[in-house]
Amino acid sequence: MSGRTKRQPRLTRERQIVLLLAALAVIVAVTAAGLFLKGSLTLDNLLVELGLKEPTVSMEDIPDYSGEPYVVLNDNWPDFDTEDLTLEPFETYSELDYLGRCGVAYANICLEIMPTEPRGDIGQVKPSGWQTVKYDCVDGKYLYNRCHLIGYQLAGENANKQNLITGTRYMNVEGMLPFENMVDGYVEETGNHVLYRVTPVFEGRNLLASGVKLEAFSVEDEGEGICFNVYIYNVQPGITIDYATGESWLEGGDRPETPAETAYVLNTSSKKFHLPDCAGASTIKAENREEYSGAREELVEQGYKPCGTCKP
Ligand SMILES: [Zn+2]
Repeated sequence: MSGRTKRQPRLTRERQIVLLLAALAVIVAVTAAGLFLKGSLTLDNLLVELGLKEPTVSMEDIPDYSGEPYVVLNDNWPDFDTEDLTLEPFETYSELDYLGRCGVAYANICLEIMPTEPRGDIGQVKPSGWQTVKYDCVDGKYLYNRCHLIGYQLAGENANKQNLITGTRYMNVEGMLPFENMVDGYVEETGNHVLYRVTPVFEGRNLLASGVKLEAFSVEDEGEGICFNVYIYNVQPGITIDYATGESWLEGGDRPETPAETAYVLNTSSKKFHLPDCAGASTIKAENREEYSGAREELVEQGYKPCGTCKP
């Protein structure tokens, strides 16, 4: 028979520690997998889910849009670390995530980083959820603007794709611009510094942000001049928006069929576009010829003109 003595299985201290660590690893892995499935796995979100960090914006705290372009958060008190209260200018932008979406943009706004040149063209940047659509009820017709997270007048970042999101005209002009102008005016007048942070809020895997959180705090006078913490809605009155894709339609109307992508041939030199079977398309030099599939509107927006023969 076996010479082993029969005894109660007992866990040594080492084994207890190993089991505890394994249990923790499982909890972290399960939480991470959950976030991954929701499409929002980032270190920050993981720390928030594990209770190790305060959430920046929780949509549960945001009331539904009810006619005002923004709501005040946390009694209008921003959430900056005291060590950030510096006179050192800085600007940081987040890497785009795996869906091509922007993250937090954070800067210490001061005269040094303000632009000295007029703004250039940003039409080549296509932020996540971008659609070229027009409505008569929208000021300027276009529903969406390429919306700077940190306004151009504050940091001079123009065609930086880490600083541009798809934003409604309403959010851009009624929501963000008054705050940008307030900070701009204050810095121009006082020469002081303003901590300024913009957090675009994407729910799940949505390509279009539901809104942006905007926080600002003037450094020299400790918030006497500028101090706010608001959430601005990425909505457009009269228009229904699908935040997953950026598609839109008139409120109360039917959701349109997704328009089929049309094929065109571009001459990148003459900036003309043709239908693929146009005789003019066949004579384009190879180095100037480009196949394109998409919306006609987008080509026009990029400065292309329709060929007079095939009239695409
Ligand atoms: Zn043609």
